[in-house]
Amino acid sequence: MPTYPIINSPTMTAAAGSEATTFSVEDWSSGYRSQPNEHSYWITDIEGNIPADLEGTLFRNGPGLLDVNGHSVKHPFDGDGMISSIVIRNGKAFFRNRFVRTAGYVAEQAAQKPLFRGVFGTQKPGGPLTNAFDLSLKNIANTHIVYWANKLLALWEAAEPHRLDPSTLETLGLDYLNGLIAPGGSFTAHPKIDPGHHGDQRLVGFSLKTGLSSTITLHELDAEGNAVCQHRHTIPGFAFIHDFALTPNYAIFFQNPVSFGPIPFLLGFKGAAECIRFNPKEPTKILVVPRNGDPMQVIETDPCFVFHHANAFERDGQIVIDSICYDSFPSLDGTSDFREVDFESVPAGELWRFSLNMAAGTAEVSKVLTRCVEFPTLHPDYLGRPYRYLFIGTAHAAQGNAPLQALLKLDTHTGDTEVWSAAPRGFMGEPLFVPRPGGQGEDDGWVLVLMYNAERQCSDLVILAGQDIAAGPVARLKLPHHVPYGLHGSFVSQYFGPGENE
Ligand code: FE
Repeated sequence: MPTYPIINSPTMTAAAGSEATTFSVEDWSSGYRSQPNEHSYWITDIEGNIPADLEGTLFRNGPGLLDVNGHSVKHPFDGDGMISSIVIRNGKAFFRNRFVRTAGYVAEQAAQKPLFRGVFGTQKPGGPLTNAFDLSLKNIANTHIVYWANKLLALWEAAEPHRLDPSTLETLGLDYLNGLIAPGGSFTAHPKIDPGHHGDQRLVGFSLKTGLSSTITLHELDAEGNAVCQHRHTIPGFAFIHDFALTPNYAIFFQNPVSFGPIPFLLGFKGAAECIRFNPKEPTKILVVPRNGDPMQVIETDPCFVFHHANAFERDGQIVIDSICYDSFPSLDGTSDFREVDFESVPAGELWRFSLNMAAGTAEVSKVLTRCVEFPTLHPDYLGRPYRYLFIGTAHAAQGNAPLQALLKLDTHTGDTEVWSAAPRGFMGEPLFVPRPGGQGEDDGWVLVLMYNAERQCSDLVILAGQDIAAGPVARLKLPHHVPYGLHGSFVSQYFGPGENE
């Protein structure tokens, strides 16, 4: 790998982040326990005060079960999707969680045993003979949850969305996005809300079909959920594309240099994702898709692996993309227990900036943050625009790979950072930035994080002021149970509060 120039060298303004990492694997792994119970209650144990002008509903998605009747999943990404909601108004908050009643969840809970293989290596009991040539897919709806056009949708990128009631979290069934996708089709787990680059807001997402070649279909939905535009682009080779970046005129996809050797999957020895291999001698291909349907442009850069993009924008004929980048894709070797991962042996995500010169067809790469980071969030109005502030989960220590235990605020103009750390016994989920109604400035709002508190073996919702992260939470809502480490979520300004008798 070449050595990239480091721009915006971070300066720590909070005490946390410079000392040695302090966490125990036992504490960290205790957040990966199934939560089979479904709760609904007013949260009563609150430290500090919920801001009076914070109102709306936080939805979170993630694997709620890490086992089926004692049969452990091989990887948390194979766990059944469970939605949590926390509705907030007038300084009060109500919690609810419900499993997505996917066909697979319902069947397995009735059978009290795994009936499906998982993409990330979970196998049916009985060894390879039982699993060989079973290519059926369990839509586990566990990755993201978005609210668009009056629909609450639980997303899993390999299959159709599930629609839920936003107040009760009852599962209403599969949703085909007003006919945009067909039964058996798929929709990304990472749609973006275009904040109004073309007038009204749009939901922009994609479907991916991959094999010897790959086809990306870009979808743009209006406020009613109907397609504004839809177009297809085919590229050679296998593609593992989890997320994309959006600007007013482009959707940008990274085709990571990976290949897929399906034979161990077909023969029942491995999950499909365990058959993905990183090719360190191949370039990463940046696919720049014009949103007006023009042909895509492909720009190559050095090999790297990206799950998530932080933001992108257009400036002076360039497209700038900030992404969480890994030196390589950590191959899932299929032997170790995910609860005993050796963090130092797998690459850490860092924040890299890709500046694309569209006329020359070249990419310039620089490292913005060289510490372990994941789960970026920013003011939603700045999606696709030049922006200043990024909030992101980070490890407690400034060096090395470790669980996310802290929240970092980056000033992309100056390179300054602020950190609030929950170490040694707190572990972060994905932060979400919520603008203050009528707020002035890009960081005028709050950052909400559902985190795991190993000291209590329970979860806390922490609320931090966007303009003073280092001061720590302005409110900590202590749940009387844990929510297993989750993936993604959304905050909406609508209040989907409890029923009269709750
Ligand atoms: Fe993701």
